[in-house]
Amino acid sequence: MADPSQRKLIIAIDGPAGAGKSTIASRLARKLGYVNLESGAMYRALALSAIEWDSSFDDEAALLKMAQESSITLERAVGGNRVRLNGKDVSERIRQRDVTEAASRISVHPKVREWMVARQREMGIGGGVVMEGRDIGTKVFPDADLKIFLDADPVIREQRRLDQQQVKGAPAQAMAAELRERDRRDRTRAASPLVAAEDAIVIDSTNLTEDEVLNRIEQLVAQRIAPGR
Ligand code: C5P
Repeated sequence: MADPSQRKLIIAIDGPAGAGKSTIASRLARKLGYVNLESGAMYRALALSAIEWDSSFDDEAALLKMAQESSITLERAVGGNRVRLNGKDVSERIRQRDVTEAASRISVHPKVREWMVARQREMGIGGGVVMEGRDIGTKVFPDADLKIFLDADPVIREQRRLDQQQVKGAPAQAMAAELRERDRRDRTRAASPLVAAEDAIVIDSTNLTEDEVLNRIEQLVAQRIAPGR
């Protein structure tokens, strides 16, 4: 029988913006020797393409066609993914405010989501991945070995995002308002709204340090790899 400790798990980490998903997913993947896949970066890359081609964020058919004709790739890198759109490294560009807003708007379309989900499944199917996003445990990998829903108090999430963005000089109040609006859109859209999967383990990181969250998840991973130990 195969050695269970060699099993390459699929780990899903979902949750709202500012809950700490990216940092945790990246650190966890590094510790396990897994690949970290940031699904949001793919929505961001498509959003950037829509901005560059001056395409409407509401035109589902045009966005789908654009997705089908684009090459969007995630590459493993220290501290996150490098993202390429049609071969060009857009990793920094996709973190800017206009792309963040556009990604939230294009991700409401069911056909765009179907396309993304299919690509994400292809990337993660072999296991050995920590995939983070909004619908990984509910849609992309409903049979994931471990599902985490990482949450935090909205005020704390806004503060964390502000701390990150301060460096980039975004005005605080506008940032907070944008984050709230994106949250609302993610949670209320008809197609794959942001919810915890029924079998997800919810971790509220409001009063936890990054290390504490990571330790908790590592324990859960260990239980999945060697149940009963
Ligand atoms: O995670 P990140 O903030 O980079 O995601 C950007 C946007 O992409 C989110 O605001 C969300 O609307 C969308 N998204 C999604 N489903 C995912 C990942 C991201 O709808 N799995």
